[in-house]
Amino acid sequence: MHTPDPPLPPGSWLGLLGGGQLGRMFCMAAQTLGYRVCVLDPAADSPAGAVADRHLQAGYDDPAALDELARACRAATTEFENVPAGSLERLARDCVVSPAAAAVAVAQDRIAEKAFVRDAGIPVAPYWPVLAQADLAGAPDGLFPGILKAARLGYDGKGQASVADHVAALAAFRGFGGVPCVLERRLPLATECSVVVARGFDGQALAWPVAENEHRDGILAVSTVPARLEPALAARATEAALALARRLQYAGVLCVEFFVLRDGSLVVNELAPRPHNSGHYTLDACVTSQFEQQVRVLAGLPLGSVRQHTPAVMLNLLGDCWFGPDGQRREPDWRAVLGRPRAKLHLYGKSDPRPGRKMGHVTVVADSLAECLADAAGIASALGIR
Ligand code: ADP
Ligand code: MG
Repeated sequence: MHTPDPPLPPGSWLGLLGGGQLGRMFCMAAQTLGYRVCVLDPAADSPAGAVADRHLQAGYDDPAALDELARACRAATTEFENVPAGSLERLARDCVVSPAAAAVAVAQDRIAEKAFVRDAGIPVAPYWPVLAQADLAGAPDGLFPGILKAARLGYDGKGQASVADHVAALAAFRGFGGVPCVLERRLPLATECSVVVARGFDGQALAWPVAENEHRDGILAVSTVPARLEPALAARATEAALALARRLQYAGVLCVEFFVLRDGSLVVNELAPRPHNSGHYTLDACVTSQFEQQVRVLAGLPLGSVRQHTPAVMLNLLGDCWFGPDGQRREPDWRAVLGRPRAKLHLYGKSDPRPGRKMGHVTVVADSLAECLADAAGIASALGIR
């Protein structure tokens, strides 16, 4: 079964692989539309497991648990790209699955991903696949200074090393345990942006407005929407994201991350086959959120409007906010956030704040981007965010 036809009625069960915050927000959106969600996640306590209607506590590749999920649910999706492709294939024998294993397989391997984007005629950073130590010898000098990235399982800048030359790249490759990597040139970034698109099983596709993203230490810190980019550049990013979704025959929510270079050119960084941190603003600033859209696709419903009704600035709340300048654990000053009536606080229910861990986010919505930025700056300073 490949498409939910006719649409799944409210009350139907939807399955979700993964228990993180993206899954939590998916559950909430599904429940708002009257669906029930069964989450498969190995952790006893997880952000999505805590709100799901049912939690199957098992590994993502546990055949019995996957079969149980497929029996319980009419359709299933994932909230993270590192789900084993085989798990999606197994689910697809008995229920509707979005996104398809083949699309997830492209996005979860940087080597396949870059080749896919390049073959679509869309620029990527100059790169060199490194499957074995010997491959490094042939890496062009022009890729240095570069970044060595593990091809799989990286996120939030993890599994990456800055490398000045071949010697450093070799040391980093060994440090990663010899797993397949890509070496890519460090590019001169003017800024970063992303486009979240939703595409139905019927091929209907919509893109939300482009988000302008600021990363710190490889982790998204701030998204500003609409992006302060030339309209022509934003249009090109949107076109590219829609073209990639089409070429992947994608069903679901897909995010395409871009680098905007100092010379004004646009380069695809990576794809995420799921809702994305840079799309969290859609919860508060758009007619339809990325999570509601993920539910709509999965249930075979038409897409909702992606119109942004108010400018937005989203701040990520990392575990760092739970530690004062003295390094002591403290409760963030929530009154400083909630005392601003245009700030929307989202916490993911994680009990253990650690530096760099995504604990929540705040989206400021106001009539103008300038007001959003001013409120966001006040909140950042009250919470001790740089
Ligand atoms: P992750 O999967 O951890 O998000 P990314 O490849 O997106 O990894 O890298 C995280 C961040 O590191 C990017 O958003 C960007 O800020 C920076 N970065 C990654 N690759 C490059 C590059 N080739 N040139 C310049 N900056 C980069
Ligand atoms: Mg990234």
